[in-house]
Amino acid sequence: MTINVAECINSCLKFALQLPLMTLAEFITNMLQKWFHDHHAAARSMRHRLIDAAHLVILKRVEKCDFMTVNPIDWNIFSVRHKGKQRMVDLARKTCTCNKFQMDFFPCSHALAAARERNLDFTSLCANYYKRETLIDAYSVPIVHVGHPSSWVVPSDIAARVVLNPKTKRQSGGVPTRLWLMKVPVELSPRNIVASAASVIQLDTTNKRALIKKAIKHNKAVQDEDELLPEAP
Ligand SMILES: [Zn+2]
Repeated sequence: MTINVAECINSCLKFALQLPLMTLAEFITNMLQKWFHDHHAAARSMRHRLIDAAHLVILKRVEKCDFMTVNPIDWNIFSVRHKGKQRMVDLARKTCTCNKFQMDFFPCSHALAAARERNLDFTSLCANYYKRETLIDAYSVPIVHVGHPSSWVVPSDIAARVVLNPKTKRQSGGVPTRLWLMKVPVELSPRNIVASAASVIQLDTTNKRALIKKAIKHNKAVQDEDELLPEAP
C-alpha cells in the first residue's frame, strides 16, 4: 500500500517536479490542503455509520442471507449452509471458513446471516477502516501554510544549531535531462535564444549542444556590437 501511495503522489507531482524548490513545496501544500478538505467534506456528508462503499457491499450481501440456512452451534459459532456448501462462522473471533471475513476484516454473507440470527449490529463486525468516523478522523487535521519565516517561533537551542550540507558524491552518467537547463552557466544564456525552459527541455542532446554553440556565438556578436556602439553623452 505504501508503494501505491508513493506512486500516486509521484504521478501527481510529475510536472510540478520541474518547478523551483519553494514553488514545489507550495504546490504540494496546496494539493494536500485540497485533498484533505474534499475528503473530509465527503466523509461528513455520508449518512451511514459505514462509508458508502462498505454500506453498499453490506446491502448486497444481506440480500443473499435470505437463501441461507443458519444453525447455531453455540452463542458465537454458527453453521451456515448455502448452495450445498457449509461454512462455519465464529462471530467472537470474526472468522468464517470461506476466509473472506478474516481476510478483509469485513463480514462475508455467511457472517451477516449468523449476525442476523443473533440480532447483532453489522457495524460491530467491521474493522474501523470501513467506518465513517475513522474516515472523518483521518482527514480532520488541517494542512496549513508555515507562514513567513519572520513569524516563526523557533526555540533558542534549535536556532543555535548549525546545519551543514550533507556530504555527497557526484554521480557518474551525466546530468539528468530535466536538470540540464539548471546546469547551464549564466554567461551561456543569451538574451533571445533560450526563450523558455519548456522548449529546451524537449530537445535531445545533439540539439542542446548546437544550442549552446549558437548561444555563445550570439552572445559574442552582441558584445562586439555593444563595443562598436558610441557611448552615450
Ligand atoms: Zn463466509
